[in-house]
Amino acid sequence: MRAYRGRLHSGEGPGEQVHAASFLRKRELVLDSSLKRDSIELARILTHEMFHFVWWRLGNPNRLEWQAILEDEFARGAVGELGWSSEARKKRLSMEDRHDHTRLWRDYICESFCDTAAWIYSGVPEHEEFTLKPRFRKTRRRWFDQLTSHHGGALRI
Ligand SMILES: [Zn+2]
Repeated sequence: MRAYRGRLHSGEGPGEQVHAASFLRKRELVLDSSLKRDSIELARILTHEMFHFVWWRLGNPNRLEWQAILEDEFARGAVGELGWSSEARKKRLSMEDRHDHTRLWRDYICESFCDTAAWIYSGVPEHEEFTLKPRFRKTRRRWFDQLTSHHGGALRI
């Protein structure tokens, strides 16, 4: 499965290879059928995709809080991430992207939110894509704990 110009395609062709995609307005989530044979990746990717819906409804105050955590990580020189999706974007970010909050930056903070949620809620404790240092993971987990406790343990999707 690959994503090209906002649409999903199967087989060979241009675009980025993906295992899943969410269409927020249509309220659709598409998973690659190969995930049926890989329960660990299914858990991580399904959780990640569900949190795209959470991010969509999260609201600006919470989104800005999340952004502030990531800005603080950059200030402290944090490298690594909690999934390939956010790590690939993080590696492409320039100072200008971070300063001007470009599209790439906004994509990064969203993907980082979803990868962090997958790390916390998928039930997969370790993975080669979890490269962020433990001290930064701790801050992120604490923020998610507060987020869910402020919403009575439930998040809207
Ligand atoms: Zn994503």
